[in-house]
Amino acid sequence: MYLGRIVERAGRRALYGSPLHPYTIALLAADPAKDPAKRNRRAAVRLRGDAPSPLDPPPGCRFHTRCPYAQERCRTEVPALREAVPDHWVACHFVTSDGARASPPQAKAIATETATSSGATA
Ligand code: SF4
Repeated sequence: MYLGRIVERAGRRALYGSPLHPYTIALLAADPAKDPAKRNRRAAVRLRGDAPSPLDPPPGCRFHTRCPYAQERCRTEVPALREAVPDHWVACHFVTSDGARASPPQAKAIATETATSSGATA
């Protein structure tokens, strides 16, 4: 959860072993991992700046002011919490159905897909 919104939902094993949302990855990086391979992946996401006030959260994706992957769309459009992989939900425009980070054109296709389906809300 970030500034009052659920950003990722999964079973414990999936959440700790294969986090998808940049905030989750950054949070887990704060806990030194015993496995060096996991430590290297987690270190790839470093947060920018300070957390905004929860009383006046940023528009769009609330995480965009700190996210190293943020793009223009993130500043205006709230990402829906969607099932990116089976039983693993994430609220990010740029996570693909295989759990990877999408390029902007792929992300646009995901947004169209999300808008036409009746998924869960964040
Ligand atoms: S929607 Fe954009 S700002 Fe939010 S987590 Fe994904 S890439 Fe980062």
